[in-house]
Amino acid sequence: MDVPYSVKRNVLLNPGPSTTTDTVKFAQIVPDICPREAEFGNLMKGLREDLVRIVHGDTDKYTSVLFCGSGTINMDICLNSLLPKDRRILVVNNGAYSSRAVEICEFYGLPHIDLRFPVDQRPDLDIVETVLKENPDIALVYTTHNETGTGILNPIREIGAIAHKYNAVFVVDTTSTYAMRPIDVEKDNIDFCMASAQKGIMAFTGLSFIVGNRKIIEQSAEYPKRSYYCNLFLQYDFFERTGEMHFTPPVQTIYATIQALKEYWSEGEQAKWERHTRVFNAIHDGLDKLGFKDVIKREEQAGLVVSAIYPDDPNWSFQKVHDYCYERGFTIYPGKISTTNTFRLCALGAINDKDIRDFFKVFREALTACDVKIPVQYKDR
Ligand SMILES: *Cc1c(COP(=O)(O)O)cnc(C)c1O
Repeated sequence: MDVPYSVKRNVLLNPGPSTTTDTVKFAQIVPDICPREAEFGNLMKGLREDLVRIVHGDTDKYTSVLFCGSGTINMDICLNSLLPKDRRILVVNNGAYSSRAVEICEFYGLPHIDLRFPVDQRPDLDIVETVLKENPDIALVYTTHNETGTGILNPIREIGAIAHKYNAVFVVDTTSTYAMRPIDVEKDNIDFCMASAQKGIMAFTGLSFIVGNRKIIEQSAEYPKRSYYCNLFLQYDFFERTGEMHFTPPVQTIYATIQALKEYWSEGEQAKWERHTRVFNAIHDGLDKLGFKDVIKREEQAGLVVSAIYPDDPNWSFQKVHDYCYERGFTIYPGKISTTNTFRLCALGAINDKDIRDFFKVFREALTACDVKIPVQYKDR
């Protein structure tokens, strides 16, 4: 695909939306079309199948359901749509995104257990199993693959196996791993996973999707309907019957996503993951050279998000450092841990390790401009 000109390139180190290619940007510029036309329906049908293939799902057994909204809409939909009457949800919670799932349960009044673990540790699987054994009314186990707030990788395959042992459906928030870290729905014991187009796929905001087990979606037709707009079965069923989304789809984002998927297949799952890994390692190298410490044990990180701790230097100002970098085309992001002051650098998007080395030149200049001592200083750590 040709692009008419190149767009100013920003390197986004925030946890999504991510840096996109110009070909994906320009894929949005198409003749106006009514999304109720068969031509557009066919595009969405192919897209839905591709979204299942990314996680190696068999398209007879698994399907994907599209929604117009940011990634949180998927969490909302899975939780409110997949819980049978008089049953409970177990949220395996070691971070901000699983805590968001708990809040969704609270808002809908869904019976749930908030099983909390420290944010810098993986969940204790023996405790997860004990809770399931003692509470046979749990119908749905929910967790987050890569807790984007810290960057910790959770053992989803093992949690999924425990959920299935106790006949519960396993739902995983894979928003910050999907199309980056290889996932295999079958081997990873996943019944439902989710993401949105602006993260691993490297397209734009507005399109989110749930990949899941067709049979369970069909069974959920009988479950209480708790939302009109955000119900999984209703959206699935409407598309299966009509080839359209129930309500207006994010048309331009869908065109961009289709282009981004072409680029995904041509880069290849393994090569893409290796590129993200090079970026991640370059982030660690850069931080190590400046003396920054991070929160999560290196071997427990998902390989996509690094949470660095603020140095104990009176001249450190996240805002000033951010602004210096931002003006030069690099976006860094605040942390999401209530007990520690952190900032995040993420390996998402159409970027490479050279971008990270360029970033660290600017970042070092920013620290120098702020009179922050290098290597950075920490008290009593
Ligand atoms: C980005 C993200 C979401 C969705 O956040 P939105 O702001 O609604 O796009 C959900 N879960 C995880 C783990 C994420 O990283």
